[in-house]
Amino acid sequence: MAAMRKLASWVLLATAAASSVKRPVEEFPASGGTVRITPVRHGSLMIEAGGQVIHVDPWSQGNYEGLPQADIILITDTHGDHLDRVMIQKLKKPHTVVIGPPAVAKALEDVAAVTVLRNGETTKIGAWTIEAVPMYNLKRGPAEGKFYHDKGRGNGYVVTWGGKRFYISGDTEGVPEMRALQNIDVAFVCMNLPFTMPPEEAADAVKAFRPKIVYPYHYRGSDLSVFEHALKGTGIEVRIRDWYY
Ligand code: ZN
Repeated sequence: MAAMRKLASWVLLATAAASSVKRPVEEFPASGGTVRITPVRHGSLMIEAGGQVIHVDPWSQGNYEGLPQADIILITDTHGDHLDRVMIQKLKKPHTVVIGPPAVAKALEDVAAVTVLRNGETTKIGAWTIEAVPMYNLKRGPAEGKFYHDKGRGNGYVVTWGGKRFYISGDTEGVPEMRALQNIDVAFVCMNLPFTMPPEEAADAVKAFRPKIVYPYHYRGSDLSVFEHALKGTGIEVRIRDWYY
């Protein structure tokens, strides 16, 4: 009897463990299939379509339990919450394509042969089109005349699959290149101080390029109601999801 009870509680525990990760998964119909996007943590997300998996800025602080390895890994910048050598090695398969700007390629020299994409460049991998968008600070930095993110070092990305265009901002302020984006279906836009921008500035930039749907991400410590309120009545759908589960 005691043994059975013990077994029963073990089964319960195992079940609880298996279902402990409640992931917010977002689905977007595209031509030829569905694009599924899973927020993982802070600036980390997973994109799936056509049986392929892209991990963006995979970070050990996220819970990757049960998530598949990557066919493509996109890295935006060299900072620890975006470039995590351990996580890249865990998610990398022998033929995984790792994409990043030159600074990322240099930092990963001994880990992976990175396919370099500079600001403004575009590459195609199978059914995916990946375009590098500049991400940088306009005014914020650790000291006078210095920036947290220097122009040219990091990449935001526009990922296209089945005609749907997804923008991932990386760590940036509302730079002209973001404001000039065209035909974005879904945008993931950062907001946090002191490193990127406050919600009101993020909303202002979003109003300029008018994605159909926008998700705040990389938003730790920000008041998202400010962002939501600033975009009321614009026709841009704001979707708030938990990135810190
Ligand atoms: Zn960051």
